[in-house]
Amino acid sequence: MRTFLIAGNWKMNAGPTEAAKLAKEMAAGWKGKTFKSEALLCPPFISIPAVQSAFEGTGFQTGAQNVSNQDNGAYTGEISTSMLKDAGCSYVIIGHSERREYYGETDKLIAEKTKKTIDDGLKAILCVGELLEERKSGKQEEVVEKQVNAVLNHLGEDVSDNFVIAYEPVWAIGTGETATPEQAQEMHKFIRSLVEKSWGKSSADKVRILYGGSMKPDNAHELLSMPDVDGGLIGGASLKADSYGQILETAESI
Ligand code: PEP
Repeated sequence: MRTFLIAGNWKMNAGPTEAAKLAKEMAAGWKGKTFKSEALLCPPFISIPAVQSAFEGTGFQTGAQNVSNQDNGAYTGEISTSMLKDAGCSYVIIGHSERREYYGETDKLIAEKTKKTIDDGLKAILCVGELLEERKSGKQEEVVEKQVNAVLNHLGEDVSDNFVIAYEPVWAIGTGETATPEQAQEMHKFIRSLVEKSWGKSSADKVRILYGGSMKPDNAHELLSMPDVDGGLIGGASLKADSYGQILETAESI
């Protein structure tokens, strides 16, 4: 049985003051309660300490939206795995489509970042997903296979305990358009088969595969009910305490 991971990606929203307020609001309703899902919020780097301290004593975790593939040193503007650990992060989102598209991140760089993250004791959430034209021309599996295998091949060894994949069809991110539960299930099952080819069935069964792309309170139940959907990577709806909370409650109810 895989534990749901309900991960919020705040993107470039919420500086320290606003982030602390939002994080406190989010965790307030869950204080003192035990919950079976993992609740994770990934603010901008500069807001991580504020969110981390707002989450103290709650079950909520803090993560980052990116990380360097290098150790500490002369890499202006970068943030290392050791800094993220020091700040209390447990997860790092890697290879988000916005980083691939706007900052030219390649499969090679993404694979290096994923390996470094896991080698240094953090958990990686690898984002993969096809563009609209690729789905329209029936190439979605080919595209996702290339993105997933670039990382699996670079990782080499089985790191299934610390490796999460987020399937995020690019056409569904921030557009209000969501993959149908069937489209999500079909791709998640395919991704799990790729992991199985590299690491075997029991490890593939452990790896959580999140769906991302306009997940909201009103579609979360149907998506999270799919057998290979193990949580969500949520952008817009994670910027409001009530919508994130409703998605978390949905996961708790399944
Ligand atoms: C995301 O950016 O990872 C995402 C899924 O965004 P949204 O939920 O807003 O589509």
